[in-house]
Amino acid sequence: MFYFVKMPRWLQTLYPNRIWQMDKNKKEIYLTFDDGPHPGITGFVLDELKQYNAEATFFCIGKNVQKYPEVYRRIIDEGHTVGNHTQQHLNGYSTTDKIYVDDILEASNYIDSNLFRPPYGKIKTFQAKIIATLKKPFKIIMWTILSGDFDISISPERCLKNVLFKISNGAIVVFHDSEKAAERMMYTLPRVLKTFTEKGYGFKKITDFNV
Ligand SMILES: [Zn+2]
Repeated sequence: MFYFVKMPRWLQTLYPNRIWQMDKNKKEIYLTFDDGPHPGITGFVLDELKQYNAEATFFCIGKNVQKYPEVYRRIIDEGHTVGNHTQQHLNGYSTTDKIYVDDILEASNYIDSNLFRPPYGKIKTFQAKIIATLKKPFKIIMWTILSGDFDISISPERCLKNVLFKISNGAIVVFHDSEKAAERMMYTLPRVLKTFTEKGYGFKKITDFNV
């Protein structure tokens, strides 16, 4: 499986309208969690965040919000933000534009947000254009660091190193509150929270962009 742990600059500049990074001048980290909500795993994340007064952003799958509305509620009640990650976790490259956009709109019945993260990071330029020009447009939030927690071929320790050694001011970090990623994410998250809190960093959520 090939992926960049740290998004290269050249790739970011290809899509300047997407958000790859927050303010580089602030000692702030933006943790994001994709693919939930999931009762046990999202619950673990929320408990950990609370211990450190950390805020985060959860890119939810619509059908999981339908399944676990109380977990979705808890994310909001505890002061975090949510984003749309489609209804069915579709890959934009292999989905027609109409089906893709309809799936996002279906998810927006359950997820109140103008933030959007494409599953697998895969969205066609034309699809991105459509959702940026809707009556209620979306802002596409990509990332700076991919923890690799979804990669079952790496160890929890490797996943932790991915984050510890690549993080920088204003980085947007991707984790997953999913069963597949749980082993690596549950090892890495508490250690990242502890390490960077001790270094004087704050953990912030991404709030709605004016688009
Ligand atoms: Zn996903």
